[in-house]
Amino acid sequence: MVKYISTRGEAPSLNFTDALIAGLAQDGGLYLPEAYPQLSAAEIAGFAGKPYAQVAEAVIAPFVGDALERKYLRAAIEAAYALFDHAAVAPLSQIGDNLFLLELFHGPTLAFKDLAMQVLSRLMRHVLAARGKRATILGATSGDTGAAAIAAFRGIAELDLFILYPHERISDVQRRQMTTIGDANTHVVAIEGTFDDAQALVKALFANKRAREEFSLAGVNSINWARVVAQAVYYFTSAVALGAPHRAVSFAVPTGNFGDILAGWIAKRMGLPIERLVIATNANDILARALATGRYEVGQVQATQSPSMDIQVSSNFERLLFEACGRDPAAIRRAMAALQQAGSFGIEPGPLAAIRAEFDAVRIGEAETTGEIARVWRETQKLIDPHTAVAVGAARAALAKHPAIPMVVLGTAHPAKFPSAILRATNIDPPLPAHLADLASRREHYDVLARDEAVLESFIRGRLHEAERAAAS
Ligand SMILES: *Cc1c(COP(=O)(O)O)cnc(C)c1O
Repeated sequence: MVKYISTRGEAPSLNFTDALIAGLAQDGGLYLPEAYPQLSAAEIAGFAGKPYAQVAEAVIAPFVGDALERKYLRAAIEAAYALFDHAAVAPLSQIGDNLFLLELFHGPTLAFKDLAMQVLSRLMRHVLAARGKRATILGATSGDTGAAAIAAFRGIAELDLFILYPHERISDVQRRQMTTIGDANTHVVAIEGTFDDAQALVKALFANKRAREEFSLAGVNSINWARVVAQAVYYFTSAVALGAPHRAVSFAVPTGNFGDILAGWIAKRMGLPIERLVIATNANDILARALATGRYEVGQVQATQSPSMDIQVSSNFERLLFEACGRDPAAIRRAMAALQQAGSFGIEPGPLAAIRAEFDAVRIGEAETTGEIARVWRETQKLIDPHTAVAVGAARAALAKHPAIPMVVLGTAHPAKFPSAILRATNIDPPLPAHLADLASRREHYDVLARDEAVLESFIRGRLHEAERAAAS
């Protein structure tokens, strides 16, 4: 059995399906496998030319072990990727010398979150149905996770879904993708605060034993281990397309909560030859500062044109830190207590050197982001969204240091999700795909709540009681 342990060392070890439902560990920590499954060079080479779903099964299955029958895993993966509007699921194209773009926005909600969320929802539904259980999914979104979760979980009878987003801090397209669904099991809540405030509320309710048990809370934020693993898949498909395992490849990743880039690090642990992992940040550069100075210090969130990265507390960094500290849960508990009390912690020289040996971090400002959208359009006639543009800027900086190694930029969103940034840079108003063309005229459903744990708890209780009454009548 593959066992999952908490980064804080004070929660029970779980198997894959229990970690899937739990999301966050009960001690506030994040789950990681006890050991990373290994793929041989021959297995990795064999991914060349295979359908995406087949590679996904080969990468994810060793993490699941015998917690779930293989046929259910396969069915979930095949159904999830059949929804994508590109045969390759995650196509790769060239946008410069040794510079490649991995398009992760061909799913239903036009951002990379669909790749993991569509698998996660099917696995969760299967596990809940098999156990005869219900769950309440609670998540915070900086814009794209919420839409992906709602698209993936809407209408599933086994659960209710509560998604919190920072009021007036996401794009109109992002908000409308969530608020226009209106299914009875879907509750969209605007929190008066930032993404970090919304995420802190989610963490507080998960840490609140009464709420966790009464509501059967389950998490789908990028702290959910199953999401991280599903995201490791496209590192394999893209690197293999560029010659791995015989050749090393680097990646530049637009980074917020550190889930996507952590997936690259996991792929590397499994045997994929990745040279550099470049953390691309916007003005919210806590990770770039942490790597430069050794101090992880929360600052003020600044609103940028790449709102899905307007984050100061980068939750998944805890997993990397745990590994860099030689899996010492006491060190993580100290760091997280300091973060809670003082808003910062220091990274010891050993762990800092270990992180710097694999990662670079580059901050790209607003003007550079606009400049990259314009430049890529001019040079390749491709429109890229502002998150992707931040990573292209960071990729160019990193490529200058290692010009011989192919660099893959993760294209995390479709440009039409952020039309004002594209218009500003290129004078083009990017059209939404046909299935979303009437988004602006659909009716919206959401509530605005103060940033207060008790208010949120009673809101959830009220909605769940309404649902029970509706089901009983
Ligand atoms: C979520 C998101 C990111 C950040 O990904 P993390 O896994 O949180 O680091 C970057 N770009 C877009 C478009 C996103 O939706």
